[in-house]
Amino acid sequence: MPEGDVVYRTARQLGLALNGRVLTRSDFRVPRYATADLTGRTVLETLSRGKHLLTRVDGGLTVHTHLRMEGSWQVSPVGRRPPPGDVVRLLLANAQWQAVGVRLGMVDLLPTGHEERVVGHLGPDLLGADWDPEEAVRRLAADPGTTIGEALLDQRNLAGIGTIYRAETLFLAGVWPWRPVGAVEDLKRVVGIAQRLLHANRERPSRVTTGDARPGRDTWVYGRAGRPCLRCGSRVSRGEMGERPQERLIVWCRRCQPE
Ligand SMILES: [Zn+2]
Repeated sequence: MPEGDVVYRTARQLGLALNGRVLTRSDFRVPRYATADLTGRTVLETLSRGKHLLTRVDGGLTVHTHLRMEGSWQVSPVGRRPPPGDVVRLLLANAQWQAVGVRLGMVDLLPTGHEERVVGHLGPDLLGADWDPEEAVRRLAADPGTTIGEALLDQRNLAGIGTIYRAETLFLAGVWPWRPVGAVEDLKRVVGIAQRLLHANRERPSRVTTGDARPGRDTWVYGRAGRPCLRCGSRVSRGEMGERPQERLIVWCRRCQPE
C-alpha cells in the first residue's frame, strides 16, 4: 500500500509532467464527474498532504485523489497506450505528457478554496514543510487508551504512515504495538523516528529503513515475519491490529519490543 513517501514522489512526478502546461485531455471515469472537463486549463501544481494528492488547476479548481490500497498515477509520454480502461479512474494529458490514475481510491473535483473539506481532518504531514511534531504528539496523547499501533495509522493524528512505517517505527522505538498511547514513555521520540524514516525515503524508489539496501536487509521487521530479527536473532512475529474489517498487518519482534 502506498505510504507518505510514495505519495510525495507521485506528487513530484505529476508536477514535472503537468505543472505550467495546458490540459489537452481530461477524462474522469467516475460516475460523479463523468461530464467534468478540464481541457484548456493550465495545471498549477500538485501537492501531497499525507496520503492525499491535490492537483490545482487554473480557474480555482482542485482535483483530489487518493491511492488507497492499490492505486497509482502512471506518468508517460503522451500516446503511450494506457492500462485497460476498467482500471483507469482519471486521465489528464497535455501536449507532451499523460498522467493516468489507475485504481484510485478517491477522485474528487472541488473548488481550491474548499480543499479543507477533503484534507482538513488530517494531522500534521510528516513530509510537509509545516510538519509539527508537537502537534502530532498532542493529538496522539489526546486518546491515551488507544494502542500506539492503531494511533500511528490514524491520519487524524499525523499523516503519512501506513503499515510498513508503523512496523519499522515501533521496532526502532522498541515499543510493543499494543502498548496504550498513554503508557508510551517518549511519544516525541516515536514521532521523530517515523518522520526521519519517511524523510530519508522520500526521494528513493526502493524503501530502506536499516541503512542497508541489500535484499532481505532493507527493513527491520516488515516483510520479515518468521525470519530472524536483524538485531537479536529471535523470530519476527506477525499479526493483525484493529477491529474487523479494518484490521491491518503488524509485524514485530517479541524480544526487541517487549510487552
Ligand atoms: Zn529483535
